[in-house]
Order: sequence, then C-alpha cells, then structure tokens
Amino acid sequence: MTCVELGFAVEPSDVRLLVSRYFPSKIGGTPAWLDQANLPSSREVACGLCKEPTVLLLQIYAPDTEDDIAFHRTIFLTCCLSASCHVTDSARCFHVFRCQLPRRNVFYSFEPPDEDNPESEQRQVDERFEAARLCWVCGFLGEKSCAKCHTAKYCSRQHQIIHWKNGHKEECTRLSQSQGGNETKTSERQCVVASAVFPQLELVIETEPEVVDEEKTDEQRMREYEEFVKREGSGVAEAADVEEFEREAAEQKHVECDKAFRRFKDRISREPEQVLRYQRHGMPLWVSDKTPSLQHDVPHCSCGSERTFEFQVMPQLLNYLKVDSLNEPSIDWGTLVVYTCKRGCNEGTPYHEEFIFKQSFNSLTCKETR
Ligand SMILES: [Zn+2]
Ligand SMILES: [Zn+2]
Ligand SMILES: [Zn+2]
Ligand SMILES: [Zn+2]
Repeated sequence: MTCVELGFAVEPSDVRLLVSRYFPSKIGGTPAWLDQANLPSSREVACGLCKEPTVLLLQIYAPDTEDDIAFHRTIFLTCCLSASCHVTDSARCFHVFRCQLPRRNVFYSFEPPDEDNPESEQRQVDERFEAARLCWVCGFLGEKSCAKCHTAKYCSRQHQIIHWKNGHKEECTRLSQSQGGNETKTSERQCVVASAVFPQLELVIETEPEVVDEEKTDEQRMREYEEFVKREGSGVAEAADVEEFEREAAEQKHVECDKAFRRFKDRISREPEQVLRYQRHGMPLWVSDKTPSLQHDVPHCSCGSERTFEFQVMPQLLNYLKVDSLNEPSIDWGTLVVYTCKRGCNEGTPYHEEFIFKQSFNSLTCKETR
C-alpha cells in the first residue's frame, strides 16, 4: 500500500500559477478547469438540496502515471454555501467531478509550461475560452449574460444579483457604452465577489510522516479507557437504578465513539494542520464508527466498475474557509470522503461525476474535542 499524501492550505506563492495551464491543486476561488470546452452545466453543479449553485471547495491535480488517457487528471469538489444545507448527514450539497486528458490534447502543450515565466504564450488560449464562457462570480459555466451590457456572464440568476449589488450596477453602463468591450482581457474585467466564493489558497501536498513511537494502539487506548471508566464510575454508586442504567448506556456509546475518534486524533496528531488525506485505492481515516459499506452505500461507476477511496477532506479545512462557525447552523463536517472509479474510465461526459460521503462527528463529546 502506498503511503498517505497530506494536503496543507497555504497562502499562494504566486496566484498566477493557480490557473489551468499549471495544473494546480488549490482551495476556493474559481475553478482552474482542465477540459476547457465541456464544462459541467449549471444544472449539474446545482446543490442537490436547495438547487442554488455550488462553488469550488477545492481541486486536486492527481494524474495517473500509468494510464495515458489520464496523463492530466484533476478532481473538482464543489460545495453549497448555504449553511442550512449542511445540517444533515446528506452529501447532496456537494459535487465531485473527475476530469482527465491524454498528454496530447487540444488545450495544453505537450511539454510542461515554464513556471518561471508565468506570462507565456498559452495565456491567450486560456482567455479565449474563459472570456466567452465563465460566470463572472464563481467561474463556472456562464450560460446567461447580462441583458443590458451583454458582456457579463453568469451561471445563475443568484450570481447575477450578487454581482449587480457588488459593483456591476456601476460597471454595466460603462460596459454597454464601450465599443468592443469583448476584447478587454477577462482577467482585468472579471470581478470575483469575494464573499460569493471560498477564499483562494494553494493546496500543498506532502507525504505523511512515519508512525510516531508514542502512538498507542486501539487496544491500548480501549483498555486505558475502560479502566478509567471503571475507576470514575465507582464513585457514583448511590445513583438510582435508572440513572445508572442510562449512564452506562451513554458511556458505552462514548466508548464506541471514542474508538474511531481516538484513532482519528492519534493519526492526525502527526500533522495537525492537514486539510486533506490522499491515498488512491487506499483507506479513509474515519472520525466516527458510522461508516458506509463499500458494497451497499458506494454506488458503482456508470462504466460498471466499482469505486475506491481516493481522498478525504478533513475538518481542519473549515478553519480556512472563513465560515462562521459561531452561528448555528454553519457549514460543517467530520470528514468528506471521495470515491472515484477504480478503473479511471473515460465514460460519459468529460467532467465525470463521482461519489462523496459525508461523515459527521458522532456526538457532542466528540465534537468538543475537535
Ligand atoms: Zn444548498
Ligand atoms: Zn456563478
Ligand atoms: Zn451588465
Ligand atoms: Zn468508470
């Protein structure tokens, strides 16, 4: 089994490198699409619960070195911004898209781009695609345009309204009067409304360090915990029978919760800042004992192949998203586990929807110690 790769959220060293031709892994902002021509439709990216558009949560460049059809390969994870869609265990307010391209393709040069010279010739290619097509707010496919200036593009009415209130009202008249506004560079014109997308950060990948010596096995942990419960429990012998019974039941639940959660905490203590764990065909690290069955809960790919684990998003990412965790409800998860086609097929659309499972923390006790 290969080792686990960890993802960390860092301030971008150079935002010019977070665009398509550098095949970035990143958090938030607008997507750096891989296939530029066949973007998912607004309907495909709409939240499965409230039907409003989802925005980019993160994207990972994860090429398959053994398969030329996936010489370039990026997984996109989108998320609904409405906190009320995140109160249940449902993952329908997320979407995962897998996109892959062979080395020889119409969008990118055969040789890797020159990172030391980010203003290279392919800039025009990207802009030709982007200018015509993308929502000025979220960077997803913009199938609608502003009725007045015919220049600004939007994925949805909701983003048009957001943009109108955040500067387009003034800009619109100017744009509708200016001749040949379409030739202006998108990068200069595109006004991303910061509050309508997640903050943009670079996703830096490093290999997980080896096991730390003091890390205890589950059995050790369980034994210690049971002894602790026994010791503490002896002091409350006066309690009424019913109370006693309830307390024991609660403790039992706590022990169960504790097992997965302690393993989780132990493991992340090696690198507490990790926001992502990547191990294609590997095993997720669960935060609770409510795990899905690979056979029953993870649907097969449309090509017929089973899906395997590819990566998981950790709760630490929430700290970087500027989501208001003090107000209830807020965007929240224990972990988001992404499964992709085991075969890495090329079936269906270029942005192939994959499966995501949301696991919440089991109980308040667990959540407190996050
Ligand atoms: Zn929603
Ligand atoms: Zn949009
Ligand atoms: Zn306009
Ligand atoms: Zn498949």
